[in-house]
Parts: sequence; structure tokens; C-alpha cells
Amino acid sequence: MTSRGSGKDGRRPLTKLAQAGRKPEWTSMPDQPGGIVNPPIWRASTILYEDVAHLRKAAGASTHERLFYGRKGTPTAWSLADALTEMEPGAEGTMLFPSGVAAIACALMAVLKPGDQLLMVDSAYDPTRNFCEQMLRPLGIETVYYDPTIGADIADLVTSDTRAIFLESPGSLTFEVQDIPAITALARERGIVTLLDNTWATPLFFPALSHGVDVSILACTKYIVGHSDVMMGSITATPALLPAIRRSAYLFGQMTSPDDAWLASRGLRTLGVRLLQHQDSALTVANWLADQADVARVLHPALPSCPGHDLWRRDFTGSSGLFSFVLKGGDEQARAALIDGLTHFGIGYSWGGFESLALPVDPARHRTATQWAAEGPVVRLNIGLEDPADLIADLDQGLARFRAVRG
Ligand SMILES: *Cc1c(COP(=O)(O)O)cnc(C)c1O
Repeated sequence: MTSRGSGKDGRRPLTKLAQAGRKPEWTSMPDQPGGIVNPPIWRASTILYEDVAHLRKAAGASTHERLFYGRKGTPTAWSLADALTEMEPGAEGTMLFPSGVAAIACALMAVLKPGDQLLMVDSAYDPTRNFCEQMLRPLGIETVYYDPTIGADIADLVTSDTRAIFLESPGSLTFEVQDIPAITALARERGIVTLLDNTWATPLFFPALSHGVDVSILACTKYIVGHSDVMMGSITATPALLPAIRRSAYLFGQMTSPDDAWLASRGLRTLGVRLLQHQDSALTVANWLADQADVARVLHPALPSCPGHDLWRRDFTGSSGLFSFVLKGGDEQARAALIDGLTHFGIGYSWGGFESLALPVDPARHRTATQWAAEGPVVRLNIGLEDPADLIADLDQGLARFRAVRG
């Protein structure tokens, strides 16, 4: 990862993480070059103008990275947005949202209109599906779900109404890796917009636009923030798509608070070291789990047992800290016995923070185009920054509790 991906300007991704978004006009005084390291928190609703002429002029000009009114942001948010854009070669810009779901909703509303058809991956994050069913369908936008392993055969589902293809790779809960280059190549040919939920890999392990994706969406809540204390989403897009995304974001009044943007920028600076450690520790735990008699399968893109593992090896430069495993037999009660007694794993939603989490998940509930058949219940783990030996000892005892209830 560290040796690949040097951009046009010659800087590699880890260097960009340290430098991006720190414009001198946001960190120094006009008569004092140098200045502070991080852009400060600029809190604002009202922006004052020196006279009516200046106010009129501001209203008629572009508000991009210009102080205009608090809703259009201040340098704190612009700095974070610029940094996320720099991490995505080929991107024109980034818009920030109060949550990952808000970013997904805005991206879909920006590209779709009544009568359009959307192709949605069957392993999508559950709230993404809910938005399609409960918001898009009543507006006359049809969603057709497709098998995450479909690859170039997605051509068979395309009709004259197909306007967009939504991808999420690896998939939520089950981690199938999609053939993104095959799908984006076909979409480009047919004039179809591609959107990717890139939360798991982040641009560090998968620069999405370089692989032909038009719109890359992150739940910054997860790895960008990294400390389980801020909700945020982002959309980074190509020059062709950014104007529609920006327009929708403004029309919906979407923005983030400067305090949250500042915390997210702080998280971004250490994304590189955190992700490399999440990767290492998660692989240690996943490989250990794969050897346990009570584990049927480990669903981790870097393990050969994961559908699409070869695609992950071809396209991604790393793996992060979130994966699932399938238990051998047992029921809801046996799975709860495993999870309830864990001392180093919290039980809760979300992921991407420094602390480990264990979650019971039921993929069959969230599918319509494919069937989820498994040897037993599924547990999803967020591997945090604790010592993996402690996590393994904890899981070892958990599997003993599982066995005792399963019989
Ligand atoms: C958590 C998550 C989201 C939504 O992010 P929020 O900030 O919680 O709204 C979107 N996609 C994926 C894959 C996620 O895991």
C-alpha cells in the first residue's frame, strides 16, 4: 500500500494524509506566513459584509470555499472536504453530510428522477435498501437488486431506463467483493452512473474513481473519524457528476458542524497508521478463527474462503478491520452465549473505531435477489486497536460458551 498509488503530483497517499487540506489562508494571518498546523474551528451562521454592494456581489458569485452564509460551510469543513478530494485521484470535489446515510440518500436523489431504474447490489447496507424501497419507489424510481458476484453479466439487467448502478464492495455483513472495473466499464459504455459505498476500504485501500466509479460515498463515521464520537458522511465525485451532487446537497440544506469537521480532520491525519494496524490485527484474528473447529467459514476479503477474494487481491491495496464469521451449527441462543460473555468486545452498531465490537447479524433478512444459506448463525467483528492476543483469548472462551449451549 505504501509503495503504490503515487499520484500525478508524485505524492503517495500517506504523504497526502499528512498534508492535504492545509491551505495557508486557513492556518495563518496575512502578515504572518507559517502559522498553525491545523485549520481551526470557524463557527458561523452570519457572515458580515462591508456594504450592500459587497453583499450583492457575494450573492451572485460562486460560494465554493467563500464565506457566504454558515450553511455553505467555513474553512474547517472546506479543509476536510479538500483533503478527501485529494485522497481520490480523478475527483473534482467532495460534499460533507451529517451522516453516511444522508450522503447515500443525497447521491441517489441527485442522479435519479421518476421513471428511472436503479440497479442495487443485494448485499447493500440495510438502510440503503430501505431508502430505495420507502423513498425512491413511491417517487416512481424502481430498484432492481443484483447478485454481488454478477460482474460483467450485469449487462443482462440493464434496460433503457437504467440510470444508475449502486455498488458496495465488500458487501455489508457478508463481504462479497464485486468486480468493480467490469461493472464501471459497462456503465461508462451505456452512459449509466456508478455509485460506490466505499466505507470499508476508504480511498486509501481502494481509490474508487481510478477504478471507473463516478461517485464515491463514505460513512466518515467509521474509519475517517475513527474514534466512535462523530456522525458524518461524504460524497466525492468526478467533474461530470459533482455539479448535480452539490446542487442537491444545497437544496436539501445538508452540511456538517465545524466542530465535527474538525474532529473528522483530526481522525483523517492518523487514518494510515490506524488502518494498517486494523488490517494486521483483523488478519491475525480472522486466521485464528478460520482454524477453529466451531467456525464454518470466515468472511474476510483477504481470506480465500471469501467470495471475490481474487478480485480483492487484484483491485485493493489492503483490508480493514471489519469481517464476519459463520458458526458451525447452533442457534440464536448459542450465538448470544458467545457474544454476551466477551470482555474485550462491545456489543453495538457502527464500527471503524479504535475499540472492538461484536454484533449478531442475520444476512438472510436483507436479501431479495440472492439467498443466504449458511452452516449456522453469523457474527460480525470490528477489530479495534487492542492487542489481538487478548481478543483471541476472549473469542476462545466465547466459542467454549457457544459449544456448551449448542451441545
Ligand atoms: C455505517 C454505514 C453507513 C451509514 O453511515 P452512518 O454515518 O451510520 O449513517 C453506510 N454504509 C456502510 C457500509 C456502513 O457501514
